Amino acid sequence: MSEGTPKRYEPHTLEAARQAAWREREAFRTPPLDEGRAHLYIKPSAPFTSGNVHIGHVRSYSVGDAYARYRRARDADVLFAFGFDAFGLPAELGAIAGGEPPSEWVERCATHMKGQLLRLGFSFDWDRSFLSSDAVMYRWSQWMFLTLHEAGLVYRGTGTVDWCENCQTTLASIQVEAGGTCWRCHNPVRLIELPQWYFRVSAYVEENDRRLAEREASGKWDKVALDSQQDVMGRVDGVEIDLEGPGGSTITAFTPHGDALARARFVVLSPRHPDAEAWAAEPAVAEQLEQLRSGGWERSARDAQTIPLLDTGRTLQGPTGTPLPVLISPVVDARFGPTIALGVPAEDKTDEVLAARLGLADNEPEHGAQAPVGRPAVRYKASDWVISRQRSWGTPIPVVYCERCGTVTVPRDQLPVLLPLDITPTGTGNPLAELEEFVNTECPGCGGPARRETDTLDCHFDALWLWVPACVPPESRELPLEDILALDDLRHWLPSERLVAGSDSGNFVFDQRTVTKALRDIGQLAFLGDGEPFAGCLFHEMVTRDGRKMSKHLGNVVDPDELVERYGADTVRLAVLYAARPQRALNWSDSAVLHCHRFLNQVWDYTHAKLALARASDGEVPADTSEHLRLKLVQWCDAAVERTTADMDALEMHSAVRNVMRLFDRIKDFEKRVLAREPQLSAGNLEALQAALSILAQMLGPFAPHIAEELWLALGHEEGGAQTPWPGVSFKVPA
Ligand SMILES: [Zn+2]
Ligand SMILES: [Zn+2]
Repeated sequence: MSEGTPKRYEPHTLEAARQAAWREREAFRTPPLDEGRAHLYIKPSAPFTSGNVHIGHVRSYSVGDAYARYRRARDADVLFAFGFDAFGLPAELGAIAGGEPPSEWVERCATHMKGQLLRLGFSFDWDRSFLSSDAVMYRWSQWMFLTLHEAGLVYRGTGTVDWCENCQTTLASIQVEAGGTCWRCHNPVRLIELPQWYFRVSAYVEENDRRLAEREASGKWDKVALDSQQDVMGRVDGVEIDLEGPGGSTITAFTPHGDALARARFVVLSPRHPDAEAWAAEPAVAEQLEQLRSGGWERSARDAQTIPLLDTGRTLQGPTGTPLPVLISPVVDARFGPTIALGVPAEDKTDEVLAARLGLADNEPEHGAQAPVGRPAVRYKASDWVISRQRSWGTPIPVVYCERCGTVTVPRDQLPVLLPLDITPTGTGNPLAELEEFVNTECPGCGGPARRETDTLDCHFDALWLWVPACVPPESRELPLEDILALDDLRHWLPSERLVAGSDSGNFVFDQRTVTKALRDIGQLAFLGDGEPFAGCLFHEMVTRDGRKMSKHLGNVVDPDELVERYGADTVRLAVLYAARPQRALNWSDSAVLHCHRFLNQVWDYTHAKLALARASDGEVPADTSEHLRLKLVQWCDAAVERTTADMDALEMHSAVRNVMRLFDRIKDFEKRVLAREPQLSAGNLEALQAALSILAQMLGPFAPHIAEELWLALGHEEGGAQTPWPGVSFKVPA
């Protein structure tokens, strides 16, 4: 190329060259532990191996990557890596559709997705990425299962569980959609009773609630993330009161209507409450309870009008001494968790409907009688969740059933219990249970014949630990888990400084907060005193189009590959950041892409034009009278750096991008003002322009890293390190 002919902006060539340079200099390798340096772990979400990176992923990782690059640019050591969430129903159903073993399906999907993410130039440390379905990784789930089981936090129970007849599987409550339908197949879900493994999140719900105030006070948890935790917990404030039962026994009943205890009309127990059996002792009632549990009922029958309501035929003394009928109904669970509630029809719509169904009249408060007073109390809707599934694509539960010893856990030194990979699921039942060579085994206790647990762990259980292994150097990955958990690396990187994830991640985060507290108390994560895995948390909303969720069915899906092919990765990344605040839904429009593409083109052309001018003007130094304008330019740059720095610290990428765009306008404005006074740009003014354009390139680095680095180099700076450095304020005013 001849001197003076500006290079065209060619994103594909340019981006390939930058990515090769990053690979070459291992730019995103996690730095070695150095306590003396600022260091942080930025946790991106763990994608399901769904097969394709969609525009929502691009948004999520563009935010996280911009933050990672920004912190590196300010000389911090950054760990930025993730593992694929590869087990579970989505992968299994994908494999069924593709007619191949799930292990091959996820491998193929992960490879393809990695290729897409590489093309977008995200700065992950790929050496630390992993698939949760690799045996060396899923032993984490098995180890966690054993550890939580020993601590009484994983237990075998029977109870009502959500069951999808179509998928022949139980569902976590978070897998049941609002309308009572299955999250995968959208068929109605029934509640049935099955022996299951549970995770006792109720043990930590109060602490999770209490520590939320600290999260909020830190300013590093955004409102969407905080609200998600409130939603998951479902805290209800009220009072509780002890009521006298038959034979001197007492039960404690809860109501949110503490000032209306005298108007209580009935007591209703959750079918999951331990006292329910005793109250349903009458054979006829016991049979009804049994039927309610095992026969199941429609998830849709959840409103007060249709939900099962069982009259035990018995009463106990109410707060004013009036006998109150005792009922059993799952209506309690949905409102206050597995507890006992006091029905106050006069104050409560649901209770009013239940009372009407039973033909109970309201009882007027007795005049003159002293109003009973309860103790302040709190109930949470969040309850223990089922971690076992009757499906084959998941972590085998390290338990065997022996005729002599009963339920026996597999010793840690025999982990992992390997999942056979030659299973081709059909979409119904559990093929693992039909595989004799897996099922029949030896009892670790007595050596006699035993049968393996054929339920596998729900992939939500894998999510309990998925945030930890990125902290483990690849060479330590095969160590025994006790040794891994004792590594300095974990103490160095945890807690994660920031989780960047979709706004639908509330349940995952809640469970991760729970397990961190459990492992703090058990010992392995004792160094996390507050039991919080994430010091900061940014939840972003989804990408919609025409105001609707994207779906193939609606034909409104934005394909990131197509966009990258057309405009390059930098434009796509910049556009998703520019278009909306992370916390707002991004309603897709092509105009943002076009705007950003035009912007990058202009910055490219403008910078190269000034460079050509500077080269052409070598030797000739005309005097000028525009020092005050140069000073103005410095002030504009300073203001832009200050504002953008503050925005980046707050992860307000949307605003940061706009600052950078405005700075470009001001740089052009500077030139215009100079040329209004003088016939041509002096050497001093050209130098000032190049200094300002360098700052522009630096600030563009986190958003559009390929073009930014290319411009940075063109402007005469050195390549190296993880990221072009972040600008300070007040570059030297050229004389
Ligand atoms: Zn289903
Ligand atoms: Zn045995």
